[in-house]
Amino acid sequence: MTDSTAFGFERLLTDPDSAARLGRLTTPHAVVDTPVFMPVGTAGTVKAATFEQVWETGSRLILGNTYHLYLRPGHELIAEKGGLHRYQGWDGALLTDSAGYQVFSLGDLNKVDEDGVSFRSHLDGSRHRFTPKVSMEIQLALGADIIMAFDHCLPYGASESDVSAAVDRTTNWLHRCRDTIGPGGRNRDADYEKVLFGIAQGGVFPEQRARSVAQIAEMDLPGYAIGGLSVGEPIPLMREMTAYTADRLPADRPRYLMGVGFPDDIVESVLMGVDMFDCVLPTRMARNGTVVTRDGRLVVKNSVYARDDAPLDDACDCPVCRRHSRAYIRHLFSAGEMLGPMLATVHNLHFYQTLMRDIRGALSRERLRDFTDPFLTRWREGEAERRKAARNAKPGGR
Ligand SMILES: [Zn+2]
Repeated sequence: MTDSTAFGFERLLTDPDSAARLGRLTTPHAVVDTPVFMPVGTAGTVKAATFEQVWETGSRLILGNTYHLYLRPGHELIAEKGGLHRYQGWDGALLTDSAGYQVFSLGDLNKVDEDGVSFRSHLDGSRHRFTPKVSMEIQLALGADIIMAFDHCLPYGASESDVSAAVDRTTNWLHRCRDTIGPGGRNRDADYEKVLFGIAQGGVFPEQRARSVAQIAEMDLPGYAIGGLSVGEPIPLMREMTAYTADRLPADRPRYLMGVGFPDDIVESVLMGVDMFDCVLPTRMARNGTVVTRDGRLVVKNSVYARDDAPLDDACDCPVCRRHSRAYIRHLFSAGEMLGPMLATVHNLHFYQTLMRDIRGALSRERLRDFTDPFLTRWREGEAERRKAARNAKPGGR
Protein backbone atom coordinates (compact mmCIF):
# COMPACT_ATOMS: atom_id res chain seq x y z
CA MET A 1 0.00 0.00 0.00
CA THR A 2 1.32 3.45 -0.84
CA ASP A 3 1.30 6.20 1.75
CA SER A 4 -0.93 8.98 0.38
CA THR A 5 0.75 11.56 2.63
CA ALA A 6 4.23 10.82 1.25
CA PHE A 7 6.09 11.71 -1.93
CA GLY A 8 6.99 9.17 -4.58
CA PHE A 9 8.06 8.83 -8.21
CA GLU A 10 7.41 5.84 -10.38
CA ARG A 11 8.75 5.29 -13.89
CA LEU A 12 6.06 3.50 -15.85
CA LEU A 13 7.75 3.26 -19.21
CA THR A 14 10.83 4.42 -21.15
CA ASP A 15 10.42 5.30 -24.83
CA PRO A 16 12.17 2.78 -27.12
CA ASP A 17 13.22 5.55 -29.58
CA SER A 18 14.39 8.32 -27.24
CA ALA A 19 15.26 9.09 -23.62
CA ALA A 20 11.62 10.08 -22.85
CA ARG A 21 9.92 8.55 -19.83
CA LEU A 22 6.30 8.13 -18.78
CA GLY A 23 5.94 8.44 -15.03
CA ARG A 24 3.86 9.32 -12.03
CA LEU A 25 4.58 11.63 -9.13
CA THR A 26 2.66 10.86 -5.97
CA THR A 27 2.41 13.92 -3.77
CA PRO A 28 0.32 14.40 -0.63
CA HIS A 29 -2.05 16.71 -2.54
CA ALA A 30 -2.33 15.09 -5.98
CA VAL A 31 -1.18 12.29 -8.22
CA VAL A 32 0.65 13.92 -11.13
CA ASP A 33 1.29 12.17 -14.44
CA THR A 34 4.62 12.98 -16.09
CA PRO A 35 5.87 14.52 -18.31
CA VAL A 36 4.07 17.42 -16.63
CA PHE A 37 3.78 21.15 -17.25
CA MET A 38 3.36 23.35 -14.16
CA PRO A 39 1.62 26.72 -14.61
CA VAL A 40 3.33 29.50 -12.67
CA GLY A 41 1.32 31.02 -9.82
CA THR A 42 3.73 33.82 -9.01
CA ALA A 43 2.13 35.77 -6.18
CA GLY A 44 -0.50 33.28 -5.02
CA THR A 45 -2.31 33.51 -8.37
CA VAL A 46 -1.96 32.03 -11.83
CA LYS A 47 -2.50 35.44 -13.38
CA ALA A 48 -5.87 36.09 -15.04
CA ALA A 49 -7.33 32.63 -14.29
CA THR A 50 -9.29 31.20 -11.37
CA PHE A 51 -7.92 28.06 -9.68
CA GLU A 52 -11.03 26.24 -10.87
CA GLN A 53 -10.14 27.14 -14.47
CA VAL A 54 -6.51 26.10 -13.91
CA TRP A 55 -7.71 22.73 -12.52
CA GLU A 56 -10.07 22.25 -15.49
CA THR A 57 -7.15 22.56 -17.94
CA GLY A 58 -5.83 19.36 -16.34
CA SER A 59 -3.20 21.06 -14.16
CA ARG A 60 -2.56 19.18 -10.91
CA LEU A 61 0.78 20.72 -9.89
CA ILE A 62 1.49 24.45 -9.97
CA LEU A 63 4.40 26.64 -8.93
CA GLY A 64 4.48 29.40 -6.33
CA ASN A 65 7.22 32.05 -6.08
CA THR A 66 8.91 32.23 -2.70
CA TYR A 67 10.46 35.66 -3.36
CA HIS A 68 7.12 37.33 -4.14
CA LEU A 69 5.15 35.57 -1.36
CA TYR A 70 7.87 36.32 1.22
CA LEU A 71 7.71 40.03 0.41
CA ARG A 72 3.92 40.13 0.10
CA PRO A 73 1.86 39.01 2.04
CA GLY A 74 4.69 37.28 3.97
CA HIS A 75 5.20 33.58 4.70
CA GLU A 76 4.25 33.97 8.39
CA LEU A 77 0.82 35.26 7.45
CA ILE A 78 0.36 32.41 4.94
CA ALA A 79 1.44 29.84 7.56
CA GLU A 80 -1.01 31.38 10.03
CA LYS A 81 -3.77 30.92 7.43
CA GLY A 82 -3.00 27.20 7.09
CA GLY A 83 -0.33 27.25 4.36
CA LEU A 84 -0.34 28.25 0.71
CA HIS A 85 -2.68 25.48 -0.51
CA ARG A 86 -5.48 26.57 1.82
CA TYR A 87 -4.71 30.31 1.72
CA GLN A 88 -5.05 30.56 -2.05
CA GLY A 89 -7.68 27.83 -2.40
CA TRP A 90 -5.72 25.34 -4.52
CA ASP A 91 -6.55 21.66 -3.96
CA GLY A 92 -3.75 20.27 -6.13
CA ALA A 93 -0.03 19.91 -5.51
CA LEU A 94 2.39 22.81 -5.13
CA LEU A 95 6.06 23.39 -5.84
CA THR A 96 7.81 26.51 -4.57
CA ASP A 97 11.03 27.92 -6.01
CA SER A 98 13.81 29.00 -3.67
CA ALA A 99 13.86 32.72 -4.55
CA GLY A 100 17.47 32.24 -5.70
CA TYR A 101 16.68 33.06 -9.30
CA GLN A 102 14.82 36.27 -8.36
CA VAL A 103 17.37 37.63 -5.89
CA PHE A 104 20.23 36.98 -8.32
CA SER A 105 18.42 38.62 -11.23
CA LEU A 106 17.93 41.83 -9.23
CA GLY A 107 21.40 42.80 -10.50
CA ASP A 108 22.98 45.62 -8.51
CA LEU A 109 20.33 45.20 -5.81
CA ASN A 110 22.08 42.09 -4.44
CA LYS A 111 25.34 41.05 -2.81
CA VAL A 112 26.45 37.40 -2.70
CA ASP A 113 28.78 35.84 -0.14
CA GLU A 114 29.55 32.25 0.86
CA ASP A 115 26.62 32.10 3.27
CA GLY A 116 23.87 33.69 1.25
CA VAL A 117 22.58 36.78 -0.51
CA SER A 118 21.70 40.24 0.78
CA PHE A 119 19.27 42.12 -1.40
CA ARG A 120 16.84 44.99 -1.55
CA SER A 121 13.14 44.49 -2.21
CA HIS A 122 12.02 45.54 -5.69
CA LEU A 123 8.83 46.83 -4.00
CA ASP A 124 10.12 49.32 -1.43
CA GLY A 125 13.92 49.04 -1.36
CA SER A 126 13.91 47.44 2.11
CA ARG A 127 16.92 45.25 2.98
CA HIS A 128 16.65 41.45 3.26
CA ARG A 129 18.96 38.48 3.54
CA PHE A 130 18.43 34.94 2.24
CA THR A 131 20.56 32.00 3.24
CA PRO A 132 19.83 28.36 2.33
CA LYS A 133 18.31 27.93 5.81
CA VAL A 134 16.07 31.01 5.45
CA SER A 135 14.83 29.90 2.02
CA MET A 136 13.98 26.43 3.40
CA GLU A 137 12.19 27.87 6.44
CA ILE A 138 10.08 30.13 4.22
CA GLN A 139 9.20 27.26 1.89
CA LEU A 140 8.34 24.96 4.82
CA ALA A 141 6.05 27.70 6.15
CA LEU A 142 4.38 28.02 2.73
CA GLY A 143 3.89 24.23 2.88
CA ALA A 144 4.65 23.22 -0.71
CA ASP A 145 4.79 19.52 -1.56
CA ILE A 146 8.06 20.11 -3.44
CA ILE A 147 10.69 22.55 -2.15
CA MET A 148 13.50 23.77 -4.41
CA ALA A 149 17.10 24.16 -3.27
CA PHE A 150 18.59 27.62 -2.79
CA ASP A 151 21.16 27.70 -5.58
CA HIS A 152 23.46 30.17 -7.30
CA CYS A 153 22.30 30.78 -10.88
CA LEU A 154 24.54 32.89 -13.14
CA PRO A 155 23.48 34.61 -16.37
CA TYR A 156 24.75 33.46 -19.78
CA GLY A 157 28.16 34.96 -20.47
CA ALA A 158 29.61 34.21 -17.01
CA SER A 159 33.21 32.91 -17.15
CA GLU A 160 33.98 29.26 -16.47
CA SER A 161 35.81 30.14 -13.25
CA ASP A 162 32.78 32.07 -11.96
CA VAL A 163 30.50 29.19 -13.01
CA SER A 164 32.80 26.71 -11.28
CA ALA A 165 32.65 28.73 -8.05
CA ALA A 166 28.83 28.88 -8.33
CA VAL A 167 28.71 25.07 -8.76
CA ASP A 168 30.67 24.57 -5.53
CA ARG A 169 28.57 27.16 -3.69
CA THR A 170 25.35 25.51 -4.95
CA THR A 171 26.52 22.11 -3.63
CA ASN A 172 27.63 23.60 -0.33
CA TRP A 173 24.25 25.34 0.00
CA LEU A 174 22.39 22.15 -0.95
CA HIS A 175 23.91 20.38 2.08
CA ARG A 176 22.65 23.23 4.27
CA CYS A 177 19.20 23.03 2.62
CA ARG A 178 19.02 19.32 3.36
CA ASP A 179 20.15 19.85 6.96
CA THR A 180 17.19 22.23 7.42
CA ILE A 181 14.61 20.04 5.61
CA GLY A 182 15.54 16.69 7.14
CA PRO A 183 17.25 13.36 6.42
CA GLY A 184 17.21 12.43 2.72
CA GLY A 185 15.63 15.80 1.90
CA ARG A 186 12.31 14.72 3.41
CA ASN A 187 10.38 16.66 6.06
CA ARG A 188 7.56 15.19 8.17
CA ASP A 189 7.03 18.02 10.64
CA ALA A 190 3.50 18.61 9.29
CA ASP A 191 0.82 15.96 8.64
CA TYR A 192 2.22 15.38 5.13
CA GLU A 193 5.65 14.98 3.60
CA LYS A 194 7.50 17.86 1.92
CA VAL A 195 10.52 17.01 -0.19
CA LEU A 196 13.63 18.82 -1.39
CA PHE A 197 14.81 18.85 -5.02
CA GLY A 198 18.48 19.61 -5.72
CA ILE A 199 19.44 21.85 -8.67
CA ALA A 200 22.29 21.22 -11.11
CA GLN A 201 24.17 24.32 -12.27
CA GLY A 202 27.23 24.56 -14.52
CA GLY A 203 26.21 27.11 -17.15
CA VAL A 204 27.14 26.09 -20.69
CA PHE A 205 30.31 24.22 -19.65
CA PRO A 206 29.99 20.40 -19.91
CA GLU A 207 32.75 19.81 -17.38
CA GLN A 208 31.01 22.03 -14.81
CA ARG A 209 27.61 20.44 -15.54
CA ALA A 210 29.10 16.96 -14.98
CA ARG A 211 30.78 18.11 -11.76
CA SER A 212 27.56 19.68 -10.45
CA VAL A 213 25.46 16.59 -11.20
CA ALA A 214 28.00 14.24 -9.61
CA GLN A 215 28.11 16.34 -6.43
CA ILE A 216 24.36 16.66 -5.96
CA ALA A 217 23.35 13.15 -7.13
CA GLU A 218 25.51 11.74 -4.35
CA MET A 219 23.06 13.25 -1.85
CA ASP A 220 20.28 10.86 -2.93
CA LEU A 221 17.47 13.46 -2.90
CA PRO A 222 13.84 12.79 -3.95
CA GLY A 223 14.25 14.77 -7.20
CA TYR A 224 16.60 16.91 -9.26
CA ALA A 225 16.32 19.98 -11.44
CA ILE A 226 18.35 21.38 -14.31
CA GLY A 227 18.93 25.04 -13.49
CA GLY A 228 20.87 27.85 -15.10
CA LEU A 229 19.41 27.41 -18.59
CA SER A 230 17.07 29.67 -20.57
CA VAL A 231 19.07 32.59 -19.11
CA GLY A 232 20.08 34.15 -22.44
CA GLU A 233 22.08 31.39 -24.16
CA PRO A 234 21.36 30.43 -27.81
CA ILE A 235 18.70 27.73 -28.17
CA PRO A 236 20.99 25.02 -29.66
CA LEU A 237 23.32 25.44 -26.67
CA MET A 238 20.36 25.22 -24.27
CA ARG A 239 19.29 21.95 -25.94
CA GLU A 240 22.82 20.53 -25.84
CA MET A 241 23.21 21.32 -22.13
CA THR A 242 19.74 19.96 -21.31
CA ALA A 243 20.51 16.63 -22.99
CA TYR A 244 23.98 16.48 -21.41
CA THR A 245 22.66 17.18 -17.90
CA ALA A 246 19.48 15.05 -18.09
CA ASP A 247 21.53 12.09 -19.26
CA ARG A 248 23.71 12.26 -16.14
CA LEU A 249 20.96 12.71 -13.52
CA PRO A 250 19.77 9.61 -11.60
CA ALA A 251 17.34 7.69 -13.84
CA ASP A 252 15.00 6.77 -11.00
CA ARG A 253 14.36 10.36 -9.84
CA PRO A 254 12.15 13.01 -11.48
CA ARG A 255 14.05 15.52 -13.64
CA TYR A 256 12.77 19.08 -13.77
CA LEU A 257 13.96 21.59 -16.38
CA MET A 258 13.37 24.99 -14.80
CA GLY A 259 11.82 27.90 -16.69
CA VAL A 260 11.53 26.26 -20.14
CA GLY A 261 9.67 27.13 -22.37
CA PHE A 262 7.94 27.20 -25.74
CA PRO A 263 5.98 24.11 -26.85
CA ASP A 264 8.82 22.98 -29.15
CA ASP A 265 11.36 23.36 -26.30
CA ILE A 266 9.18 21.15 -24.11
CA VAL A 267 8.75 18.46 -26.77
CA GLU A 268 12.51 18.41 -27.50
CA SER A 269 13.34 18.20 -23.78
CA VAL A 270 10.85 15.37 -23.17
CA LEU A 271 12.76 13.42 -25.84
CA MET A 272 15.92 14.07 -23.78
CA GLY A 273 14.37 12.53 -20.66
CA VAL A 274 12.98 15.56 -18.82
CA ASP A 275 9.83 14.90 -16.72
CA MET A 276 8.80 18.31 -15.34
CA PHE A 277 8.48 21.81 -16.76
CA ASP A 278 7.34 25.26 -15.66
CA CYS A 279 7.24 28.52 -17.56
CA VAL A 280 5.49 31.89 -17.39
CA LEU A 281 5.19 31.93 -21.20
CA PRO A 282 1.62 30.65 -21.69
CA THR A 283 0.18 33.07 -19.13
CA ARG A 284 2.48 36.02 -19.94
CA MET A 285 1.94 35.72 -23.70
CA ALA A 286 -1.82 35.53 -23.11
CA ARG A 287 -1.85 38.83 -21.22
CA ASN A 288 0.07 40.41 -24.10
CA GLY A 289 -2.49 39.25 -26.67
CA THR A 290 -0.63 36.23 -28.06
CA VAL A 291 -2.00 32.69 -28.09
CA VAL A 292 -0.40 29.36 -28.98
CA THR A 293 -1.82 27.13 -31.70
CA ARG A 294 -0.58 24.00 -33.45
CA ASP A 295 0.71 26.38 -36.14
CA GLY A 296 2.83 28.39 -33.72
CA ARG A 297 2.05 31.68 -32.03
CA LEU A 298 -0.87 33.85 -33.13
CA VAL A 299 -0.95 37.52 -32.17
CA VAL A 300 -4.73 37.64 -31.78
CA LYS A 301 -4.76 41.33 -30.81
CA ASN A 302 -3.65 42.25 -34.37
CA SER A 303 -6.21 44.03 -36.57
CA VAL A 304 -5.92 41.30 -39.22
CA TYR A 305 -8.19 39.17 -36.98
CA ALA A 306 -10.93 41.81 -36.62
CA ARG A 307 -13.32 39.82 -38.88
CA ASP A 308 -11.95 36.31 -38.34
CA ASP A 309 -14.77 33.91 -37.35
CA ALA A 310 -12.38 31.04 -36.61
CA PRO A 311 -11.63 29.94 -33.03
CA LEU A 312 -8.11 30.60 -31.69
CA ASP A 313 -7.13 27.05 -32.78
CA ASP A 314 -9.64 24.98 -34.75
CA ALA A 315 -8.49 21.71 -33.14
CA CYS A 316 -8.77 23.07 -29.59
CA ASP A 317 -11.70 21.92 -27.47
CA CYS A 318 -11.18 24.42 -24.64
CA PRO A 319 -14.18 26.42 -23.35
CA VAL A 320 -12.85 29.55 -25.11
CA CYS A 321 -12.49 27.95 -28.55
CA ARG A 322 -15.90 26.29 -28.24
CA ARG A 323 -17.60 29.65 -27.73
CA HIS A 324 -15.57 32.58 -29.05
CA SER A 325 -14.05 33.78 -32.32
CA ARG A 326 -10.67 35.41 -32.96
CA ALA A 327 -12.65 38.51 -34.02
CA TYR A 328 -14.31 38.81 -30.61
CA ILE A 329 -11.12 38.19 -28.63
CA ARG A 330 -9.25 40.70 -30.80
CA HIS A 331 -11.98 43.24 -29.96
CA LEU A 332 -11.53 42.57 -26.21
CA PHE A 333 -7.80 43.33 -26.46
CA SER A 334 -8.29 46.41 -28.59
CA ALA A 335 -10.91 47.75 -26.16
CA GLY A 336 -8.69 46.98 -23.16
CA GLU A 337 -11.30 44.63 -21.67
CA MET A 338 -9.95 42.34 -18.93
CA LEU A 339 -11.83 39.38 -20.39
CA GLY A 340 -9.31 39.36 -23.28
CA PRO A 341 -6.30 38.28 -21.15
CA MET A 342 -8.57 35.93 -19.16
CA LEU A 343 -9.80 34.04 -22.24
CA ALA A 344 -6.34 33.93 -23.83
CA THR A 345 -4.90 32.53 -20.56
CA VAL A 346 -7.45 29.71 -20.35
CA HIS A 347 -6.80 28.77 -23.98
CA ASN A 348 -2.99 28.84 -23.61
CA LEU A 349 -2.99 26.74 -20.43
CA HIS A 350 -5.39 24.32 -22.08
CA PHE A 351 -3.09 24.11 -25.11
CA TYR A 352 -0.03 23.31 -22.95
CA GLN A 353 -1.90 20.69 -20.91
CA THR A 354 -3.36 19.10 -24.06
CA LEU A 355 0.19 18.93 -25.46
CA MET A 356 1.37 17.12 -22.29
CA ARG A 357 -1.60 14.71 -22.45
CA ASP A 358 -0.84 13.98 -26.11
CA ILE A 359 2.82 13.35 -25.25
CA ARG A 360 1.85 10.98 -22.42
CA GLY A 361 -0.69 9.21 -24.64
CA ALA A 362 1.86 8.66 -27.43
CA LEU A 363 4.44 7.51 -24.87
CA SER A 364 2.02 4.97 -23.39
CA ARG A 365 1.44 3.55 -26.88
CA GLU A 366 5.23 3.52 -27.44
CA ARG A 367 4.66 5.76 -30.49
CA LEU A 368 6.08 9.03 -29.19
CA ARG A 369 7.80 10.05 -32.45
CA ASP A 370 4.54 9.55 -34.34
CA PHE A 371 3.24 12.47 -32.32
CA THR A 372 6.34 14.63 -31.79
CA ASP A 373 7.69 14.63 -35.38
CA PRO A 374 4.52 16.06 -37.03
CA PHE A 375 3.93 18.37 -34.04
CA LEU A 376 7.42 19.88 -34.31
CA THR A 377 7.24 20.21 -38.11
CA ARG A 378 3.90 21.98 -38.02
CA TRP A 379 4.89 24.27 -35.12
CA ARG A 380 8.16 25.28 -36.85
CA GLU A 381 6.51 25.89 -40.21
CA GLY A 382 3.88 28.06 -38.52
CA GLU A 383 6.52 30.01 -36.58
CA ALA A 384 8.55 30.59 -39.78
CA GLU A 385 5.40 31.92 -41.50
CA ARG A 386 4.64 34.21 -38.58
CA ARG A 387 8.18 35.65 -38.58
CA LYS A 388 7.99 36.21 -42.34
CA ALA A 389 4.63 38.00 -42.02
CA ALA A 390 5.98 40.15 -39.17
CA ARG A 391 9.01 41.15 -41.27
CA ASN A 392 6.78 42.14 -44.18
CA ALA A 393 4.44 44.20 -42.02
CA LYS A 394 5.16 47.92 -41.97
CA PRO A 395 7.14 48.98 -38.90
CA GLY A 396 4.73 50.42 -36.36
CA GLY A 397 1.73 49.13 -38.37
CA ARG A 398 -0.93 47.08 -36.60
ZN1 LIG B 1 -8.70 26.88 -27.08
